[in-house]
Amino acid sequence: MTDFKAMAAPGVQQLKPYIPGKPISELERELGIKNIIKLASNENPLGPSPKAMKAIQCEMDELALYPDGNGFELKKILAEKHDVDMDWITLGNGSNDVLVLVAEGFLTANDSAMYSQYSFAVYPIAIQAIGASHQMIAATSWDDERPLGCDLPAMKAAINNQTRLIFIANPNNPTGSFLQADELHDFISSVPNHVIVVLDEAYLEYSPENERVDGSQWLREFENLVVTRTFSKAYGLAGLRVGYALSHPDIANVLNRIRQPFNVNSLALAAAQAAVNDREFIQQSMEVNTLGMKVLENCCHRLGLRYVPSKGNFLLVDFGRDAMPIYQRMLELGVITRPVANYGLPDCLRITIGKEQEMMRLVAVMEQVCG
Ligand SMILES: *Cc1c(COP(=O)(O)O)cnc(C)c1O
Repeated sequence: MTDFKAMAAPGVQQLKPYIPGKPISELERELGIKNIIKLASNENPLGPSPKAMKAIQCEMDELALYPDGNGFELKKILAEKHDVDMDWITLGNGSNDVLVLVAEGFLTANDSAMYSQYSFAVYPIAIQAIGASHQMIAATSWDDERPLGCDLPAMKAAINNQTRLIFIANPNNPTGSFLQADELHDFISSVPNHVIVVLDEAYLEYSPENERVDGSQWLREFENLVVTRTFSKAYGLAGLRVGYALSHPDIANVLNRIRQPFNVNSLALAAAQAAVNDREFIQQSMEVNTLGMKVLENCCHRLGLRYVPSKGNFLLVDFGRDAMPIYQRMLELGVITRPVANYGLPDCLRITIGKEQEMMRLVAVMEQVCG
């Protein structure tokens, strides 16, 4: 038998595949139970924006045709929204796609890329696939004012001649930790121009508008800044796969050279176009999230469990002991959460905020398992 693993690119041989949340259908098959709720993948419990669903219906007749490879209509709406020209936008098959494009476009095996401990698993995968070096910077401790967050001074100090890229998620997944506008702005100001800062804002919409830390306002100030956004979370379109990057056109030009010609499908384009300005839906998603977050935080207080204060649609809860048996027990009771041992957090589970009823069910299950 040929050793195909040995034939793989050196970086790929060392790669650990991404571990997704358990799908409802899989748990149904395994345990034969019904009424399962999934609070494992930071999906929107309200479903998709109704405007997006309508747009998809209208697009069905066109499925035999290739999508618009330039995504003209969507880019036009996004350009207006962000007050930039269309050539500042790169569309992706989920923002995951654009994160990978940045790594592919700018990293070689001789470069290194930086990210924080406990940050999004896609960063190390994108870096490792290329065989570039990792600079993983230790996160702040549980005792810090902002626990398990990016240590920006440490990141700044670690930048060297090899550093080409820095990935920062704000708010971060899986911790929910977040950075303030001033500290983030100061940090980006201090990064030399030959280092690209990727600011991943997948959860931005979960902050009230007047509290958002919106890196897109700094795009003109920093030509080495890339801001990524997604339709997967607050817009409720995770299944369609659409996201985008905002950057200086010279960076967008590089990304555009390597992306697949039709990387965003036609249903996704139509849905995203319709959803962008559905402020009512975003507002509703945020309100449901705020309420559900309170319910879960209160439950943690009652049970004496610590957690990381979160600006996302999920909470990282520390169970103070191996969380795997707790995860298993909750599965048996029909509630899927997300283990984060692969992130180096074996005592924690990441729990996505659901609708009120789902949160009631979650709380009952947590009390049964931990009380
Ligand atoms: C969910 C998430 C994304 C979005 O992924 P998509 O590919 O757009 O679905 C990006 N970054 C972070 C930190 C996330 O948690």
